[in-house]
Amino acid sequence: MRTTKYGVSVRKGVDAITKLRAGKYKCPRCKKTAMKRVASGIWKCKRCELEIADNAYNLTVKSIN
Ligand SMILES: [Zn+2]
Repeated sequence: MRTTKYGVSVRKGVDAITKLRAGKYKCPRCKKTAMKRVASGIWKCKRCELEIADNAYNLTVKSIN
């Protein structure tokens, strides 16, 4: 069935995004894996409290000055 196959592929995509959102990322300032998404495109480090605006689903900033 075409509809079933389509539904599965969509669900897989959503799962991948959910995993990215839930994951923690390395802080570009203190280098600890403590960056968490607090809002769409807003990331905050639980350790040094650095807050940055970036991609809505994953953190692309690797370093800051
Ligand atoms: Zn930090």
